[in-house]
Amino acid sequence: HAKGLGRNEAAYFTPDMSEAVDSRINLESELMVALQEDQFSAYFQPRVDVQTGDIHGAEALVRWLHPERGMISPADFIPACEDSGLIGKLGKFVLTQAVIAQRCWAENGHTLKISVNLSPVQFVAETLVEDFIQIVEDNGGDPHSMELEITESVLLGNDQATINKLQALVDYGFHIAIDDFGTGYSNLSYLHRYPISCLKIDRSFIAQIESAQPIIELIISMARLFDLDVVAEGVETAAQLQALKAYDCQEYQGFFYAGAVALGDFTALLDCDGAAAA
Ligand code: C2E
Ligand code: MG
Ligand code: MG
Ligand code: MG
Repeated sequence: HAKGLGRNEAAYFTPDMSEAVDSRINLESELMVALQEDQFSAYFQPRVDVQTGDIHGAEALVRWLHPERGMISPADFIPACEDSGLIGKLGKFVLTQAVIAQRCWAENGHTLKISVNLSPVQFVAETLVEDFIQIVEDNGGDPHSMELEITESVLLGNDQATINKLQALVDYGFHIAIDDFGTGYSNLSYLHRYPISCLKIDRSFIAQIESAQPIIELIISMARLFDLDVVAEGVETAAQLQALKAYDCQEYQGFFYAGAVALGDFTALLDCDGAAAA
């Protein structure tokens, strides 16, 4: 590739950069091995009722347990999955785990909503809709209790093929949430143009809940106006939860209640939740 560059440009290709390219290629091949060798798992973070503290649902978050390097954060490998096309397979894996978990909870008397992150890159696949329907059908899932989290960028692209896929997913029964809401170039016209059911307030606003109060309250009233659910992300303190109660926010996620945990640990949380309510 470097051959194609002009003289001057080639001069900028430093050893540092070739190391970065090498480590990127290594990462991509390690990710392929990781998929084959089942090093990925889905963790679940509770989605909690702000007023009552009851668990209403869960977000499935992928984890990579690397044989030497231990647990690796998705922030460090999702971009490489998107660049290499592996995100399609990874996304289907996480959706499958989410359907299985949701069914298992339902069979134990807990009807929970499960949400799964959907990368903009996954919309490139012609078979996205069929693949997702197949996964739900094959695993006895219920699309009406499932939510797909997309970012504003997916809608702002205004790509007709993407919008058609989104609509087909909604027609099948999936709900759609806007993740990290408030951080994109919010052109809010999409709120009435597209079939959205939930806004997830980005955790950067919750981290600065005092100065961000007007924005948070605005998002919550907008959600009410458009008849959408609203979830606050990244709640870490009792004071933040208290403020969200006062703003009449519906649900939250955050370390204050629990981070993302393995399936068994989530089920244990549910049992405690049930016991506390009884
Ligand atoms: P996200 O979808 O916005 O998920 C929320 C992230 O915030 C998660 O990080 C979660 O563990 C973290 N978090 C939750 N509560 C708190 C809190 O109280 N304080 C702080 N500081 N952080 C909190 P995680 O699991 O590292 O995931 C990071 C991002 O990676 C996700 O952001 C999502 O964009 C992406 N991601 C994770 N799993 C998947 C997946 O299966 N597919 C795709 N496409 N993306 C994924
Ligand atoms: Mg998310
Ligand atoms: Mg989020
Ligand atoms: Mg986020």
